[in-house]
Amino acid sequence: MATGYWDTVFDPRFMLHREVNEWNDIQDLQDQTADAAAQLRQLTKIATAAHRQLYELSITTGVLVKMLAEANLLDVEVLRTRAEAELAAARAQPPPPVVIPDPWASAPAQAAVQAAPPAAAPVTCPLCGKQVPANQTTITARGTVCDGCAATQR
Ligand SMILES: [Zn+2]
Repeated sequence: MATGYWDTVFDPRFMLHREVNEWNDIQDLQDQTADAAAQLRQLTKIATAAHRQLYELSITTGVLVKMLAEANLLDVEVLRTRAEAELAAARAQPPPPVVIPDPWASAPAQAAVQAAPPAAAPVTCPLCGKQVPANQTTITARGTVCDGCAATQR
């Protein structure tokens, strides 16, 4: 005889089996939620630390600019113009990959991430228009130019 709905719905063994499965599912969901909450707390901690670091770096840069301007070693308006031009050029390129340390990664894996050299973004020389790696450029009064143009400017 086939087991129908009414045969199982009042069968205590069937009901218990179903309740145990549901209870296990709920336990799994609670574990996953706790893991996600822990990861979120860790990410919030990292973001807060990064924000604080950025804030302090910004203040330090401001002090540096003031000191250089006070010593007549820097024209703040030229700095502003040059920085805006460089930032506009940088924004036109895709941003560098964000590397967030994985607090759960093993120590060797973290070391490998930190040891990876940053990708050199190509720079377009404003004088000759050539694209060169950033490590083959020179910062001059006319902007960041390729080493070839920098040599002829001297
Ligand atoms: Zn050039």
